[in-house]
Amino acid sequence: MEIDQSEILKKLQGKVFEAISEASEELGLETYVIGGYVRDIFLNRPSKDIDVVCVGSGIQLAKNVASRFEKKTHLSVFKTYGTAQVKSGDIEVEFVGARKESYRPDSRNPVVEDGTLQDDQNRRDFTINALALCLNKARFGELVDPFDGLNDMENLKIRTPLNPDITFSDDPLRMMRAIRFATQLGFFIDPETFDAIERNVNRIEIISKERVVDELNKIILSPRPSIGFELLEQTGLLELILPELVALKGVETREGIGHKDNFSHTLKVLDNLAGETQDLWLRWAAIFHDIAKPATKRFDPKFGWTFHNHNYMGMKMLPGIFRRMKFPMNDKLKYVQKMVLLHMRPIILSEDEVTDSAVRRLLFEAGDDIDGLMLLCEADITSKNPEKVKRFLQNFRLVREKLKEIEEKDRLRNFQPPIDGEEIMERFGLPPGRVVGELKNAIKDAILDGIIPNEYEAANRFLMGKAKALGIL
Ligand code: ATP
Repeated sequence: MEIDQSEILKKLQGKVFEAISEASEELGLETYVIGGYVRDIFLNRPSKDIDVVCVGSGIQLAKNVASRFEKKTHLSVFKTYGTAQVKSGDIEVEFVGARKESYRPDSRNPVVEDGTLQDDQNRRDFTINALALCLNKARFGELVDPFDGLNDMENLKIRTPLNPDITFSDDPLRMMRAIRFATQLGFFIDPETFDAIERNVNRIEIISKERVVDELNKIILSPRPSIGFELLEQTGLLELILPELVALKGVETREGIGHKDNFSHTLKVLDNLAGETQDLWLRWAAIFHDIAKPATKRFDPKFGWTFHNHNYMGMKMLPGIFRRMKFPMNDKLKYVQKMVLLHMRPIILSEDEVTDSAVRRLLFEAGDDIDGLMLLCEADITSKNPEKVKRFLQNFRLVREKLKEIEEKDRLRNFQPPIDGEEIMERFGLPPGRVVGELKNAIKDAILDGIIPNEYEAANRFLMGKAKALGIL
Protein backbone atom coordinates (compact mmCIF):
# COMPACT_ATOMS: atom_id res chain seq x y z
CA MET A 1 0.00 0.00 0.00
CA GLU A 2 1.30 3.41 -0.95
CA ILE A 3 1.59 5.61 2.08
CA ASP A 4 0.07 9.02 1.58
CA GLN A 5 2.11 10.91 4.16
CA SER A 6 0.12 14.10 3.75
CA GLU A 7 -3.07 12.17 4.53
CA ILE A 8 -1.50 10.79 7.72
CA LEU A 9 -0.35 14.24 8.79
CA LYS A 10 -3.85 15.55 8.13
CA LYS A 11 -5.32 12.90 10.45
CA LEU A 12 -2.77 13.78 13.14
CA GLN A 13 -3.63 17.46 13.02
CA GLY A 14 -5.24 19.18 15.95
CA LYS A 15 -4.74 20.14 19.52
CA VAL A 16 -4.69 16.64 21.02
CA PHE A 17 -1.77 15.26 19.01
CA GLU A 18 0.04 18.58 19.28
CA ALA A 19 -0.21 18.45 23.08
CA ILE A 20 0.98 14.83 23.20
CA SER A 21 3.90 15.68 20.95
CA GLU A 22 4.95 18.67 23.05
CA ALA A 23 4.58 16.76 26.31
CA SER A 24 6.76 13.95 24.92
CA GLU A 25 9.50 16.43 23.98
CA GLU A 26 9.40 18.03 27.41
CA LEU A 27 9.64 14.67 29.18
CA GLY A 28 12.12 13.20 26.69
CA LEU A 29 9.81 10.25 25.92
CA GLU A 30 9.46 8.25 22.71
CA THR A 31 5.72 8.28 21.96
CA TYR A 32 3.40 6.64 19.44
CA VAL A 33 -0.27 6.45 18.59
CA ILE A 34 -0.97 2.75 18.12
CA GLY A 35 -3.61 0.07 17.46
CA GLY A 36 -7.17 0.56 16.22
CA TYR A 37 -6.84 4.31 15.71
CA VAL A 38 -3.94 3.89 13.28
CA ARG A 39 -5.62 0.96 11.54
CA ASP A 40 -8.73 3.05 11.01
CA ILE A 41 -6.73 5.94 9.53
CA PHE A 42 -5.58 3.62 6.74
CA LEU A 43 -9.03 2.08 6.34
CA ASN A 44 -10.62 5.51 6.26
CA ARG A 45 -12.98 4.52 9.06
CA PRO A 46 -14.08 6.95 11.71
CA SER A 47 -12.42 6.24 15.06
CA LYS A 48 -12.78 8.04 18.34
CA ASP A 49 -10.67 6.26 20.95
CA ILE A 50 -6.98 7.04 20.70
CA ASP A 51 -4.38 4.66 22.20
CA VAL A 52 -1.00 6.18 22.96
CA VAL A 53 2.05 4.21 24.02
CA CYS A 54 5.32 5.72 25.22
CA VAL A 55 8.61 4.15 26.18
CA GLY A 56 8.47 5.14 29.85
CA SER A 57 5.63 6.16 32.17
CA GLY A 58 2.26 6.51 30.45
CA ILE A 59 0.81 8.07 33.60
CA GLN A 60 3.44 10.80 33.71
CA LEU A 61 2.81 11.57 30.04
CA ALA A 62 -0.96 11.69 30.56
CA LYS A 63 -0.60 14.13 33.45
CA ASN A 64 1.58 16.42 31.38
CA VAL A 65 -0.85 16.28 28.43
CA ALA A 66 -3.87 17.00 30.64
CA SER A 67 -2.14 20.06 32.11
CA ARG A 68 -1.97 21.57 28.61
CA PHE A 69 -5.74 21.71 28.24
CA GLU A 70 -8.28 23.96 29.89
CA LYS A 71 -10.36 22.81 32.84
CA LYS A 72 -12.81 20.75 30.82
CA THR A 73 -10.27 17.94 30.48
CA HIS A 74 -10.73 14.94 32.74
CA LEU A 75 -7.79 12.81 33.83
CA SER A 76 -8.22 9.31 35.31
CA VAL A 77 -5.24 7.36 36.56
CA PHE A 78 -5.28 3.56 36.95
CA LYS A 79 -2.14 2.94 38.99
CA THR A 80 -2.52 -0.85 39.17
CA TYR A 81 -2.53 -1.10 35.38
CA GLY A 82 0.00 1.67 34.82
CA THR A 83 -2.48 3.43 32.51
CA ALA A 84 -4.22 6.79 32.42
CA GLN A 85 -7.01 8.30 30.42
CA VAL A 86 -7.53 11.86 29.28
CA LYS A 87 -11.02 12.86 28.22
CA SER A 88 -11.74 16.11 26.47
CA GLY A 89 -15.17 16.54 24.92
CA ASP A 90 -15.92 13.37 23.01
CA ILE A 91 -12.22 12.53 22.55
CA GLU A 92 -10.75 9.81 24.76
CA VAL A 93 -7.04 9.15 24.89
CA GLU A 94 -5.64 6.14 26.69
CA PHE A 95 -1.96 6.33 27.78
CA VAL A 96 0.22 3.37 28.60
CA GLY A 97 3.93 2.69 28.93
CA ALA A 98 5.31 0.21 26.37
CA ARG A 99 5.24 -3.25 27.92
CA LYS A 100 6.43 -6.73 27.43
CA GLU A 101 4.08 -9.56 28.32
CA SER A 102 4.99 -13.15 28.97
CA TYR A 103 2.46 -15.83 29.70
CA ARG A 104 2.91 -18.94 31.81
CA PRO A 105 0.85 -22.00 30.95
CA ASP A 106 -0.37 -22.29 34.56
CA SER A 107 -1.71 -18.73 34.80
CA ARG A 108 -4.18 -16.74 32.76
CA ASN A 109 -2.55 -13.45 33.70
CA PRO A 110 0.65 -12.47 31.98
CA VAL A 111 3.79 -11.28 33.70
CA VAL A 112 4.09 -7.66 32.60
CA GLU A 113 7.39 -5.79 32.45
CA ASP A 114 8.46 -2.46 30.96
CA GLY A 115 9.54 -2.91 27.37
CA THR A 116 10.37 -1.31 24.06
CA LEU A 117 7.99 -0.31 21.29
CA GLN A 118 8.84 -3.57 19.55
CA ASP A 119 7.94 -5.57 22.71
CA ASP A 120 4.65 -3.73 22.84
CA GLN A 121 3.90 -4.42 19.20
CA ASN A 122 4.69 -8.12 19.73
CA ARG A 123 1.90 -8.45 22.27
CA ARG A 124 -0.74 -7.02 19.92
CA ASP A 125 -3.35 -9.38 18.52
CA PHE A 126 -3.13 -8.80 14.75
CA THR A 127 -0.67 -7.21 12.37
CA ILE A 128 -3.22 -4.58 11.35
CA ASN A 129 -3.65 -3.67 15.03
CA ALA A 130 0.09 -3.35 15.66
CA LEU A 131 0.78 -0.31 13.48
CA ALA A 132 2.26 2.69 15.27
CA LEU A 133 2.73 6.32 14.20
CA CYS A 134 5.45 8.30 15.93
CA LEU A 135 4.40 11.53 17.64
CA ASN A 136 7.85 12.93 18.45
CA LYS A 137 8.71 16.16 16.64
CA ALA A 138 11.59 14.85 14.51
CA ARG A 139 9.69 11.74 13.35
CA PHE A 140 6.11 13.05 13.52
CA GLY A 141 3.79 10.81 11.46
CA GLU A 142 6.44 8.14 10.76
CA LEU A 143 4.92 4.68 10.49
CA VAL A 144 6.46 1.77 12.43
CA ASP A 145 5.16 -1.47 10.94
CA PRO A 146 7.38 -4.41 11.86
CA PHE A 147 4.96 -7.14 10.71
CA ASP A 148 3.94 -5.77 7.34
CA GLY A 149 0.50 -4.89 8.66
CA LEU A 150 -0.01 -2.37 5.88
CA ASN A 151 0.40 -5.09 3.31
CA ASP A 152 -2.12 -7.25 5.18
CA MET A 153 -4.48 -4.30 5.21
CA GLU A 154 -4.23 -4.10 1.45
CA ASN A 155 -4.85 -7.84 1.12
CA LEU A 156 -7.71 -7.72 3.62
CA LYS A 157 -5.88 -10.18 5.83
CA ILE A 158 -6.24 -10.91 9.56
CA ARG A 159 -2.96 -12.42 10.78
CA THR A 160 -1.24 -12.64 14.15
CA PRO A 161 2.17 -10.94 14.46
CA LEU A 162 3.80 -13.96 16.12
CA ASN A 163 3.09 -17.71 16.16
CA PRO A 164 -0.73 -17.86 16.12
CA ASP A 165 -0.89 -20.91 18.41
CA ILE A 166 0.93 -18.97 21.11
CA THR A 167 -1.05 -15.78 20.48
CA PHE A 168 -4.39 -17.60 20.85
CA SER A 169 -3.38 -19.83 23.69
CA ASP A 170 -2.06 -16.81 25.64
CA ASP A 171 -5.33 -14.92 25.28
CA PRO A 172 -8.12 -17.00 23.71
CA LEU A 173 -10.40 -13.98 23.39
CA ARG A 174 -8.25 -13.09 20.39
CA MET A 175 -9.96 -15.92 18.47
CA MET A 176 -13.27 -14.11 18.85
CA ARG A 177 -11.59 -10.83 17.98
CA ALA A 178 -10.17 -12.31 14.75
CA ILE A 179 -13.66 -13.30 13.67
CA ARG A 180 -15.11 -10.01 14.83
CA PHE A 181 -12.62 -7.97 12.78
CA ALA A 182 -13.16 -10.22 9.74
CA THR A 183 -16.89 -9.52 10.02
CA GLN A 184 -16.70 -5.80 10.80
CA LEU A 185 -14.08 -5.01 8.18
CA GLY A 186 -14.95 -7.65 5.56
CA PHE A 187 -11.45 -9.13 5.91
CA PHE A 188 -10.26 -12.76 5.55
CA ILE A 189 -8.52 -14.76 8.22
CA ASP A 190 -5.12 -15.96 7.01
CA PRO A 191 -5.10 -19.80 6.69
CA GLU A 192 -2.35 -20.29 9.30
CA THR A 193 -4.18 -18.06 11.74
CA PHE A 194 -7.47 -19.83 10.96
CA ASP A 195 -5.96 -23.28 11.53
CA ALA A 196 -4.58 -22.14 14.87
CA ILE A 197 -8.05 -21.01 15.94
CA GLU A 198 -9.37 -24.48 15.07
CA ARG A 199 -6.62 -26.04 17.20
CA ASN A 200 -7.19 -23.75 20.18
CA VAL A 201 -11.00 -23.46 20.34
CA ASN A 202 -11.26 -25.29 23.65
CA ARG A 203 -9.23 -22.55 25.33
CA ILE A 204 -12.25 -20.21 24.94
CA GLU A 205 -13.60 -21.80 28.11
CA ILE A 206 -11.22 -19.73 30.27
CA ILE A 207 -12.69 -16.47 28.97
CA SER A 208 -15.59 -14.90 30.84
CA LYS A 209 -19.02 -15.09 29.17
CA GLU A 210 -19.31 -11.30 29.30
CA ARG A 211 -16.22 -10.79 27.14
CA VAL A 212 -17.28 -13.47 24.66
CA VAL A 213 -20.76 -11.94 24.41
CA ASP A 214 -19.25 -8.49 23.92
CA GLU A 215 -17.49 -9.75 20.80
CA LEU A 216 -20.59 -11.66 19.65
CA ASN A 217 -22.62 -8.48 19.92
CA LYS A 218 -20.09 -6.63 17.78
CA ILE A 219 -20.32 -9.40 15.18
CA ILE A 220 -24.12 -9.20 15.27
CA LEU A 221 -24.08 -5.43 14.85
CA SER A 222 -21.84 -5.66 11.75
CA PRO A 223 -23.30 -4.97 8.29
CA ARG A 224 -23.24 -8.71 7.38
CA PRO A 225 -23.25 -10.71 10.61
CA SER A 226 -23.51 -14.04 8.73
CA ILE A 227 -19.78 -13.77 7.89
CA GLY A 228 -18.97 -14.03 11.59
CA PHE A 229 -21.39 -16.86 12.32
CA GLU A 230 -20.08 -18.90 9.38
CA LEU A 231 -16.54 -18.43 10.72
CA LEU A 232 -17.59 -19.26 14.28
CA GLU A 233 -19.17 -22.45 12.96
CA GLN A 234 -16.26 -23.42 10.70
CA THR A 235 -13.66 -22.96 13.43
CA GLY A 236 -15.68 -24.95 15.98
CA LEU A 237 -16.20 -22.00 18.33
CA LEU A 238 -19.97 -21.88 17.79
CA GLU A 239 -20.40 -25.46 19.01
CA LEU A 240 -18.86 -24.36 22.31
CA ILE A 241 -20.68 -21.05 22.63
CA LEU A 242 -24.13 -21.64 21.12
CA PRO A 243 -24.54 -25.34 20.27
CA GLU A 244 -28.28 -24.77 19.70
CA LEU A 245 -27.39 -22.84 16.55
CA VAL A 246 -25.12 -25.56 15.19
CA ALA A 247 -28.00 -28.01 15.69
CA LEU A 248 -29.90 -26.04 13.02
CA LYS A 249 -27.40 -27.17 10.42
CA GLY A 250 -28.13 -29.86 7.88
CA VAL A 251 -30.81 -31.13 5.56
CA GLU A 252 -32.67 -34.40 5.89
CA THR A 253 -34.53 -36.01 3.01
CA ARG A 254 -37.25 -38.62 3.31
CA GLU A 255 -39.39 -40.02 0.52
CA GLY A 256 -37.73 -37.51 -1.74
CA ILE A 257 -38.78 -34.59 0.42
CA GLY A 258 -36.11 -32.38 2.01
CA HIS A 259 -36.40 -29.41 4.32
CA LYS A 260 -34.32 -26.26 4.17
CA ASP A 261 -31.04 -25.92 6.06
CA ASN A 262 -32.17 -23.92 9.03
CA PHE A 263 -28.69 -22.66 9.88
CA SER A 264 -28.17 -20.91 6.56
CA HIS A 265 -31.81 -19.79 6.61
CA THR A 266 -31.29 -18.20 10.05
CA LEU A 267 -28.16 -16.41 8.85
CA LYS A 268 -30.00 -15.12 5.80
CA VAL A 269 -32.78 -13.77 8.03
CA LEU A 270 -30.16 -12.12 10.23
CA ASP A 271 -28.46 -10.48 7.23
CA ASN A 272 -31.81 -9.35 5.83
CA LEU A 273 -32.73 -7.80 9.14
CA ALA A 274 -29.30 -6.16 9.48
CA GLY A 275 -30.16 -4.19 6.34
CA GLU A 276 -33.23 -2.77 8.09
CA THR A 277 -32.38 -2.17 11.75
CA GLN A 278 -29.52 -1.53 14.16
CA ASP A 279 -31.54 -2.98 17.06
CA LEU A 280 -29.27 -5.56 18.74
CA TRP A 281 -32.07 -7.48 20.46
CA LEU A 282 -34.18 -7.69 17.37
CA ARG A 283 -31.13 -9.15 15.63
CA TRP A 284 -30.81 -11.67 18.47
CA ALA A 285 -34.48 -12.52 17.92
CA ALA A 286 -33.62 -13.33 14.30
CA ILE A 287 -30.83 -15.62 15.50
CA PHE A 288 -33.23 -17.46 17.82
CA HIS A 289 -36.44 -17.39 15.78
CA ASP A 290 -36.18 -21.02 14.59
CA ILE A 291 -34.07 -22.32 17.48
CA ALA A 292 -36.60 -25.04 18.36
CA LYS A 293 -36.86 -26.45 14.85
CA PRO A 294 -34.56 -29.42 15.55
CA ALA A 295 -36.54 -30.27 18.70
CA THR A 296 -39.91 -30.13 16.95
CA LYS A 297 -39.02 -31.67 13.60
CA ARG A 298 -41.28 -34.53 12.46
CA PHE A 299 -41.86 -36.27 9.16
CA ASP A 300 -45.46 -36.79 8.19
CA PRO A 301 -46.02 -38.87 5.02
CA LYS A 302 -49.01 -36.67 4.19
CA PHE A 303 -47.60 -33.21 4.93
CA GLY A 304 -43.84 -33.76 4.68
CA TRP A 305 -41.60 -32.06 7.25
CA THR A 306 -43.33 -30.21 10.05
CA PHE A 307 -42.03 -28.10 12.96
CA HIS A 308 -45.24 -27.72 14.95
CA ASN A 309 -45.09 -25.24 17.78
CA HIS A 310 -41.44 -24.42 17.17
CA ASN A 311 -42.21 -20.79 17.97
CA TYR A 312 -43.66 -21.69 21.36
CA MET A 313 -40.91 -24.20 22.16
CA GLY A 314 -38.31 -21.67 21.04
CA MET A 315 -39.71 -19.12 23.48
CA LYS A 316 -39.44 -21.74 26.22
CA MET A 317 -35.79 -22.48 25.40
CA LEU A 318 -34.71 -18.87 25.72
CA PRO A 319 -34.48 -18.42 29.52
CA GLY A 320 -31.99 -21.31 29.71
CA ILE A 321 -29.88 -19.90 26.89
CA PHE A 322 -30.02 -16.36 28.31
CA ARG A 323 -28.96 -17.60 31.76
CA ARG A 324 -26.03 -19.57 30.34
CA MET A 325 -24.89 -16.64 28.20
CA LYS A 326 -25.27 -14.24 31.15
CA PHE A 327 -27.64 -12.12 29.06
CA PRO A 328 -29.96 -9.72 30.87
CA MET A 329 -32.88 -11.72 32.29
CA ASN A 330 -35.18 -8.69 32.16
CA ASP A 331 -37.23 -6.94 29.52
CA LYS A 332 -34.66 -7.97 26.87
CA LEU A 333 -35.48 -11.64 27.46
CA LYS A 334 -39.21 -10.83 27.41
CA TYR A 335 -38.81 -8.94 24.14
CA VAL A 336 -36.89 -11.71 22.37
CA GLN A 337 -39.37 -14.29 23.69
CA LYS A 338 -42.25 -12.28 22.35
CA MET A 339 -40.61 -11.94 18.93
CA VAL A 340 -39.85 -15.67 18.74
CA LEU A 341 -43.36 -16.61 19.84
CA LEU A 342 -45.07 -14.27 17.38
CA HIS A 343 -42.65 -14.52 14.47
CA MET A 344 -45.02 -16.47 12.24
CA ARG A 345 -48.16 -14.50 12.96
CA PRO A 346 -47.91 -11.77 10.32
CA ILE A 347 -46.92 -14.27 7.65
CA ILE A 348 -49.76 -16.68 8.42
CA LEU A 349 -52.04 -13.73 8.43
CA SER A 350 -50.87 -12.70 5.00
CA GLU A 351 -51.46 -16.21 3.63
CA ASP A 352 -55.17 -16.09 4.48
CA GLU A 353 -57.58 -13.34 3.84
CA VAL A 354 -56.39 -10.36 5.88
CA THR A 355 -59.36 -9.75 8.16
CA ASP A 356 -59.71 -6.75 10.47
CA SER A 357 -60.20 -9.03 13.42
CA ALA A 358 -56.92 -10.93 12.84
CA VAL A 359 -55.02 -7.67 12.40
CA ARG A 360 -56.54 -6.28 15.61
CA ARG A 361 -55.47 -9.38 17.52
CA LEU A 362 -51.94 -9.12 16.17
CA LEU A 363 -51.75 -5.47 17.16
CA PHE A 364 -53.13 -6.29 20.61
CA GLU A 365 -50.51 -8.99 21.25
CA ALA A 366 -47.49 -7.23 19.77
CA GLY A 367 -48.26 -3.78 21.23
CA ASP A 368 -45.39 -1.33 20.72
CA ASP A 369 -43.20 -4.12 19.35
CA ILE A 370 -45.31 -4.50 16.23
CA ASP A 371 -42.83 -2.61 14.02
CA GLY A 372 -39.93 -4.86 15.03
CA LEU A 373 -42.09 -7.93 14.56
CA MET A 374 -43.04 -6.87 11.05
CA LEU A 375 -39.37 -6.32 10.18
CA LEU A 376 -38.44 -9.76 11.53
CA CYS A 377 -41.25 -11.38 9.66
CA GLU A 378 -40.34 -9.71 6.39
CA ALA A 379 -36.69 -10.72 6.86
CA ASP A 380 -37.92 -14.30 7.37
CA ILE A 381 -39.02 -14.54 3.74
CA THR A 382 -36.00 -16.24 2.20
CA SER A 383 -37.61 -18.52 -0.38
CA LYS A 384 -35.65 -19.03 -3.61
CA ASN A 385 -38.87 -19.04 -5.59
CA PRO A 386 -39.30 -15.46 -6.87
CA GLU A 387 -43.03 -15.92 -7.45
CA LYS A 388 -43.54 -16.98 -3.86
CA VAL A 389 -41.45 -14.08 -2.52
CA LYS A 390 -43.42 -11.64 -4.63
CA ARG A 391 -46.72 -13.00 -3.38
CA PHE A 392 -45.63 -12.88 0.26
CA LEU A 393 -44.32 -9.35 -0.01
CA GLN A 394 -47.54 -8.24 -1.68
CA ASN A 395 -49.68 -9.76 1.05
CA PHE A 396 -47.39 -8.27 3.58
CA ARG A 397 -47.91 -4.83 2.19
CA LEU A 398 -51.61 -5.45 2.66
CA VAL A 399 -51.07 -6.43 6.31
CA ARG A 400 -49.07 -3.25 6.89
CA GLU A 401 -51.76 -1.11 5.29
CA LYS A 402 -54.45 -2.77 7.38
CA LEU A 403 -52.35 -2.33 10.52
CA LYS A 404 -52.07 1.36 9.86
CA GLU A 405 -55.73 1.74 9.06
CA ILE A 406 -56.89 -0.16 12.16
CA GLU A 407 -54.42 1.55 14.42
CA GLU A 408 -55.65 4.94 13.36
CA LYS A 409 -59.25 3.89 13.72
CA ASP A 410 -59.14 1.83 16.89
CA ARG A 411 -56.03 2.98 18.80
CA LEU A 412 -55.24 -0.60 19.68
CA ARG A 413 -51.51 -0.47 20.30
CA ASN A 414 -50.94 -1.34 23.98
CA PHE A 415 -54.68 -1.49 24.31
CA GLN A 416 -56.31 -2.22 27.67
CA PRO A 417 -60.05 -2.94 27.62
CA PRO A 418 -61.93 0.18 28.78
CA ILE A 419 -63.55 -1.73 31.68
CA ASP A 420 -61.24 -3.67 33.95
CA GLY A 421 -61.75 -6.54 36.44
CA GLU A 422 -61.93 -4.21 39.43
CA GLU A 423 -64.84 -2.32 37.96
CA ILE A 424 -66.66 -5.52 37.03
CA MET A 425 -66.32 -6.87 40.59
CA GLU A 426 -67.55 -3.65 42.09
CA ARG A 427 -70.46 -3.27 39.70
CA PHE A 428 -71.90 -6.74 40.30
CA GLY A 429 -70.56 -7.36 43.80
CA LEU A 430 -68.59 -10.33 42.54
CA PRO A 431 -65.57 -11.89 44.28
CA PRO A 432 -62.42 -12.40 42.14
CA GLY A 433 -62.87 -15.52 40.04
CA ARG A 434 -63.77 -17.19 36.77
CA VAL A 435 -66.90 -15.12 36.02
CA VAL A 436 -64.99 -11.84 36.28
CA GLY A 437 -62.37 -13.19 33.86
CA GLU A 438 -65.08 -14.33 31.46
CA LEU A 439 -66.76 -10.94 31.41
CA LYS A 440 -63.45 -9.15 30.97
CA ASN A 441 -62.42 -11.40 28.09
CA ALA A 442 -65.82 -11.07 26.46
CA ILE A 443 -65.30 -7.29 26.31
CA LYS A 444 -61.78 -7.69 24.94
CA ASP A 445 -62.89 -10.19 22.28
CA ALA A 446 -65.83 -8.04 21.24
CA ILE A 447 -63.47 -5.12 20.65
CA LEU A 448 -60.86 -7.19 18.83
CA ASP A 449 -63.54 -8.82 16.68
CA GLY A 450 -64.94 -5.44 15.80
CA ILE A 451 -68.34 -6.12 17.38
CA ILE A 452 -68.06 -2.97 19.48
CA PRO A 453 -65.71 0.03 19.20
CA ASN A 454 -62.88 0.54 21.68
CA GLU A 455 -64.91 2.96 23.83
CA TYR A 456 -66.24 3.02 27.39
CA GLU A 457 -69.93 3.54 26.62
CA ALA A 458 -70.08 0.73 24.09
CA ALA A 459 -68.16 -1.60 26.41
CA ASN A 460 -70.53 -0.77 29.23
CA ARG A 461 -73.61 -1.56 27.16
CA PHE A 462 -72.03 -4.79 26.00
CA LEU A 463 -71.12 -5.75 29.58
CA MET A 464 -74.66 -5.23 30.85
CA GLY A 465 -76.07 -7.39 28.06
CA LYS A 466 -73.55 -10.12 28.77
CA ALA A 467 -74.28 -10.00 32.52
CA LYS A 468 -77.97 -10.36 31.83
CA ALA A 469 -77.33 -13.35 29.59
CA LEU A 470 -75.28 -14.98 32.33
CA GLY A 471 -78.05 -14.37 34.86
CA ILE A 472 -75.97 -12.03 37.02
CA LEU A 473 -78.36 -9.11 36.65
P1 ATP B 1 -12.59 -1.34 18.33
O1 ATP B 1 -12.45 0.04 18.87
O2 ATP B 1 -13.40 -1.47 17.11
O3 ATP B 1 -12.99 -2.35 19.37
P2 ATP B 1 -9.77 -1.63 18.53
O4 ATP B 1 -8.74 -2.32 17.73
O5 ATP B 1 -9.54 -0.19 18.84
O6 ATP B 1 -11.15 -1.82 17.82
P3 ATP B 1 -9.64 -2.20 21.32
O7 ATP B 1 -10.26 -3.35 22.02
O8 ATP B 1 -9.99 -0.82 21.74
O9 ATP B 1 -9.98 -2.47 19.80
O10 ATP B 1 -8.07 -2.38 21.39
C1 ATP B 1 -7.14 -1.39 21.04
C2 ATP B 1 -5.83 -2.05 20.62
O11 ATP B 1 -5.31 -2.83 21.70
C3 ATP B 1 -6.03 -3.05 19.48
O12 ATP B 1 -5.97 -2.43 18.23
C4 ATP B 1 -4.87 -4.00 19.71
O13 ATP B 1 -3.67 -3.47 19.26
C5 ATP B 1 -4.78 -4.06 21.22
N1 ATP B 1 -5.56 -5.17 21.81
C6 ATP B 1 -6.80 -5.11 22.31
N2 ATP B 1 -7.20 -6.30 22.80
C7 ATP B 1 -6.17 -7.14 22.61
C8 ATP B 1 -5.93 -8.51 22.93
N3 ATP B 1 -6.87 -9.25 23.51
N4 ATP B 1 -4.73 -9.03 22.61
C9 ATP B 1 -3.79 -8.28 22.01
N5 ATP B 1 -3.95 -7.00 21.69
C10 ATP B 1 -5.10 -6.41 21.99
